[in-house]
Amino acid sequence: MLARRLPGLLPPLTADEALEVAAVAAASTAGFRPGQLGERPFRAPHHGASAAALIGGGARARPGEISLAHHGVLFLDELPEFSRAVLEALREPLETGFVAVSRAALQAEYPAAFLLVAAMNPCPCGERGEASGLCGCTPAQLRHYRNRISGPLLDRLDLHVELARVPVQEFAPAARGESSAQAAARVARARTLQLARQGTCNARLDEGGVQRWCVPDEAAARLLDEAMQRLRLSGRARARVLKVARTIADLEEAATPGLAHVAQALALRCPDRATAPSAPCDRPPA
Ligand SMILES: [Zn+2]
Repeated sequence: MLARRLPGLLPPLTADEALEVAAVAAASTAGFRPGQLGERPFRAPHHGASAAALIGGGARARPGEISLAHHGVLFLDELPEFSRAVLEALREPLETGFVAVSRAALQAEYPAAFLLVAAMNPCPCGERGEASGLCGCTPAQLRHYRNRISGPLLDRLDLHVELARVPVQEFAPAARGESSAQAAARVARARTLQLARQGTCNARLDEGGVQRWCVPDEAAARLLDEAMQRLRLSGRARARVLKVARTIADLEEAATPGLAHVAQALALRCPDRATAPSAPCDRPPA
């Protein structure tokens, strides 16, 4: 439900982005419907989908779901149920925003700059951690289930969020906090800041861009160095933490990512290792 609402929180597509989305759809088997023009894509392929359907390919080297999700959201529910080959093929486009599709004599490159949202259960039966106490999964079953997601793919997911079952009273209208319109306005302001500063959004900054535009203050830099060692973060993870910290700072319209921003970015990347899961995110990891 949350993933489906995400495109509505993102800023409207620019004219160029809308054309790119339309061009990819026109090249796909589904084709382009004029009524879709300007809609931010949301794609939620089934875990049984083939590699060609997801990544692109087939006899005519058509774009796959990851390209149909260009400039939008790709939602993979039940992530461990997807084939390992498909999941590993996501790594390259997640870095570059492009995918090369080749079939026999045909070669094509399609854009694939999508926002990946993936969901999985805490264990094969889905009851782990619930008060029901119904989970009977063994440690070996748990390990097998979690090992279906490779370390390098996990490394490319910036935010790891545990969601508990929602108590029924939270569905009441009175319990609702910030409205979608307010959240969307905050996102749009942050995006405008990013484009004015660096010409692209934080997620699309390359290594040089991260070094130039995502410089934390001194205390935050020390925290990050220390966390790199303690959490054994890769260089890639470090750059990704900095981009998330920069984004959190932008949402608060802060000029420089500070301690609280970097701490929150770390807590979102490694919720079970950076801080206690219930600790507020504005506190540096203990
Ligand atoms: Zn279980």
